[in-house]
Amino acid sequence: MREPLLKRRIKFKEVATIGNWAKIPKPSSATGEDAGKSGSDLGINTKKLGSVDQTSSSRRKYDVFPEETLLLDWPKPITAGPGLQNLGNTCFLNSTLQCLTYTPPLALYLLSRSHSQKCKLRRQTTFCTFCELEKHVMRSLSGMRGKNTITPKSIVGRLKSIAKHFRVGRQEDAHEFLRYFIDSLQNSCLVGFEKLDHKQKETTVIHQVFGGYTQSRILCTVCKEPSCTIEPCLDISLEVKNCGSVEKALARFTKTESLTGDNKYRCSKCKTLVDATKQMTILEAPKILVLQLKRFEFGGFSMFGGGKISKMITFPEKLDIQPYMFKTKKKVLYELYGVLVHAGGSCNSGHYFSYVKAPNGVWYLKNDSEVRQVSVKQVLDQQAYILFYSAVQPVSI
Ligand SMILES: [Zn+2]
Ligand SMILES: [Zn+2]
Repeated sequence: MREPLLKRRIKFKEVATIGNWAKIPKPSSATGEDAGKSGSDLGINTKKLGSVDQTSSSRRKYDVFPEETLLLDWPKPITAGPGLQNLGNTCFLNSTLQCLTYTPPLALYLLSRSHSQKCKLRRQTTFCTFCELEKHVMRSLSGMRGKNTITPKSIVGRLKSIAKHFRVGRQEDAHEFLRYFIDSLQNSCLVGFEKLDHKQKETTVIHQVFGGYTQSRILCTVCKEPSCTIEPCLDISLEVKNCGSVEKALARFTKTESLTGDNKYRCSKCKTLVDATKQMTILEAPKILVLQLKRFEFGGFSMFGGGKISKMITFPEKLDIQPYMFKTKKKVLYELYGVLVHAGGSCNSGHYFSYVKAPNGVWYLKNDSEVRQVSVKQVLDQQAYILFYSAVQPVSI
């Protein structure tokens, strides 16, 4: 009997064509039949992080969104999209939206329109943050680039749906907005998945893009028994007081503390108070690493309710987080693609703007409606408030 030419039937994927974008493969949903198919099968260069010891993903049984289907690289080098109109103190929102628009795996997922085609909120004609961001990214990265400023009024108009305490027309903290916006995107992803346990809820596209895990490990100095607490994180906030660089701030974040004196630790094995050490590390690295530099001090004595650490804090274009990870020997490299800057004295005053690396690899200033090409040196000279890094292929040492 003749061997069949093909072992199995080849299924062709539908592709989305948006403006002058080339064919962008559509990531499948959790129940999609392409789960497990890598981007390289699709002719797209996807980069995966190196294997990290004790990844929680290996413990997961069910993924709302399979991470293998995320596309991490822009499929074609296009220039940056337009600026965003300021609708009255909305620079905190504009600068955040610009950084999200140029987050490759998120933008590529949005451009595939996978979300809106299945969105239950949309069918109920309820406001959906994910659908709004999808429309926004489609407009930003499609044919109308470079000419018309976008007015993000549909998002500004629903600010209270994103964060109840935000007030239209008032300057808000860009990081707080980012947190609420990402939470709102996560909630949109979970419509219809409410019954999942918290571990499964950490497998939405939002967690697959921004999510990592931190570990707090307490070690009893008597019995040497460790006690670990693992927490999911969608970004990392770094203390920057007395730190001149992001690397120093990360070293402080992961510094081993001694729990002694009044701070002794109750060891469950020794059943008594003991001296112990405590260390926070990154257990599982995210694909997109968002670092907030805590420049604002709340509850201070200034008239704005807090001061600001305005000094220069250096940050690299390429960042290796291996030294801050739990028992990882390989380099875990990231490349900078977005910098959100705050100019002024406090988070509720001053001005926010951002720098983004467009799909053509060129850096642009995005200052409300202004869009201007800049050098990477200009970007690295900024007083950054939020840094956006994307993972690159790890290099073994
Ligand atoms: Zn939606
Ligand atoms: Zn002990």
